Amino acid sequence: MSKTPNLLEKLRLSHGLSQGDVATRLEVSRPTYSLVEKNRKELTLSQAKLLSDLYSVPVEAISTGQISKKDFSNNEIVATTLPTKFGTFVFGVWNQPKGQEIVFLQTSKLDPSKPVLVRVHSECMTGEVFHSYRCDCGEQKDRSLEMIAESGNGVFIYLRQEGRGIGLYDKIRAYILQDNGYDTHEANILLGHKPDYREYSWVKKVLQHLNVQQIKLITNNPSKVTEIARLGIKITERIPIVTESNSHNRKYFETKKQKFKHFFGKDESNYFYQFSYADSPKQVEEIGTFLSGKQKDPFLKICIGVYADFHTLNDDAALRNIESIFKSAEHYEGFVPILHFTFKLSSDPKNDIAAIRAKMPFVKYLRLNDLTSEHAEVLAFANKFFLVDIPLSDENMNLVDDPAFVKEVLKSKTFIMLDNSHGGGKQDNAKNVTKKVNKLLSSGINDIALCGGFGPQNLGLYFDMCEHYKFNFSIDAETKLKTNGSIDMGKVKEYLNKLINHKHDYQS
Ligand SMILES: [Zn+2]
Repeated sequence: MSKTPNLLEKLRLSHGLSQGDVATRLEVSRPTYSLVEKNRKELTLSQAKLLSDLYSVPVEAISTGQISKKDFSNNEIVATTLPTKFGTFVFGVWNQPKGQEIVFLQTSKLDPSKPVLVRVHSECMTGEVFHSYRCDCGEQKDRSLEMIAESGNGVFIYLRQEGRGIGLYDKIRAYILQDNGYDTHEANILLGHKPDYREYSWVKKVLQHLNVQQIKLITNNPSKVTEIARLGIKITERIPIVTESNSHNRKYFETKKQKFKHFFGKDESNYFYQFSYADSPKQVEEIGTFLSGKQKDPFLKICIGVYADFHTLNDDAALRNIESIFKSAEHYEGFVPILHFTFKLSSDPKNDIAAIRAKMPFVKYLRLNDLTSEHAEVLAFANKFFLVDIPLSDENMNLVDDPAFVKEVLKSKTFIMLDNSHGGGKQDNAKNVTKKVNKLLSSGINDIALCGGFGPQNLGLYFDMCEHYKFNFSIDAETKLKTNGSIDMGKVKEYLNKLINHKHDYQS
């Protein structure tokens, strides 16, 4: 007797088949048996059985070539149920080189017709495995898994980008530098890295695989929103994540807050590209049409500066025109009209602010231009009714030394516009801008915009600053968008196009 009947017998028993069944199936199973036998070193019977269970196909199909071993190895994604202390998830793994496998955990039910709660998390061995106090990655991971489990409709995506993408070895070298007084940002630069190497293209693959179209993103990091939105994923909401700081990572938090410009708590913060000044609703419409479908970053606002002064307050035609410009901006998502009011001609700035409120009730955002004195007081008054921008030049930069002024700026989230051009279109130099930005940051002010001398051909300083600070700086352009004194829509479009398409180096 040959050994082959034993194998057939095993097959028969493992499938709960009677001898008679085997007899009628012998025609089918014979090639199976021979293939299994022939490839025995490659595929044992128990392996074949495992495969047959996995694919819910008869063992025969495994070896007859309907599903081959090759097919199995090509299977990019495997998934299983994983009960955890946060809840039960479907745990999916995307086949990648060992140690680089992309991991996702989804709630057992997933409804892609609604925005899905998503956390995109980058690997951090020290924080997650060893509960290091040097960062808050472990806490953030746990908290977001809890949030996702609670939501009943969420996905946690785990990217293998240790140490902001620089790897574990260099992360520890960066720690050593930090122990010698450098912050995260500086240490990365000293090691020859850009501030942030993280890359999010996997997010799109995973979400597409799960058929998720819209997400609510759990993050405190605005660049993550920007980067993920740029992949073409619709982010309907940013959900902040709050963890407790502690003495070990306070410096890390401060770095994040100042240089990496994370959001903390429920603080809302946007950044904007602005052109000043629009003088007709038609210009707004032209920009709106031009940008429709282009703008993907939910935190980016396109601001439209509209000029006004003391005389405007008593000029009905001018007031009507301003109203129609403001109204036309309402038709475009992310458009924000701002009244740039110059107080040069005002004898009583507070009185004029009250008049703006009475005569232009549609104004929500107000820029206080050319204030000559009583800055803190006028600012406090304006903040009662409006969201306010205030330009600071070298001449009045000392306001930042006044605690009352700083307190007012922080309390009302006033935007500080660094402007040294005084309408002359001259750009400030990088050294001076950096000095002023550092001064603002050290006072806790991080809603900062650059204006003066920017245009489509003069964005270098802005891009440099963004890279250096990983900062959602805002930007405002005026003179360089004009030709012979009037606004040039060609230049405006070129300016906005360059800004929107610019891929910041820190995000690559
Ligand atoms: Zn960490």
